[in-house]
Amino acid sequence: MGSIIRAKCSCGFDSGDLYVGGGFRDFMDVSKIPCYCDHCGILLLVNVKNKTGIKKYNKCPECMRKVKYYGEILDGLIENYDEIFDWKLNDDKIYLLQKGKYYCPKCKKENLKFFNVGCWD
Ligand SMILES: [Zn+2]
Ligand SMILES: [Zn+2]
Repeated sequence: MGSIIRAKCSCGFDSGDLYVGGGFRDFMDVSKIPCYCDHCGILLLVNVKNKTGIKKYNKCPECMRKVKYYGEILDGLIENYDEIFDWKLNDDKIYLLQKGKYYCPKCKKENLKFFNVGCWD
């Protein structure tokens, strides 16, 4: 159900395989999306769901600062997008990670690219 994506940057940064979205057992409660902590220089996955809906923010497990999400959380599907990964969070929220260049937490440049590696369930 979920996707496996991977982020790489020209500086050598490689996130390894990231299991985003949710599995068939937990997709109602868990939706993992990629984010980064600029302070720690790491890319990590966080669950954006809680009991009442979508969390306002997540904290880095290392430094407890707020992390920044890659991609966007939308109120509905937009047209004409080129996605790496999209995921229905609930009845009216959709997570979308489009192709493009993103901020690299290691070299601090907009040179990070995401790739779709496969699927998992
Ligand atoms: Zn941190
Ligand atoms: Zn980099």
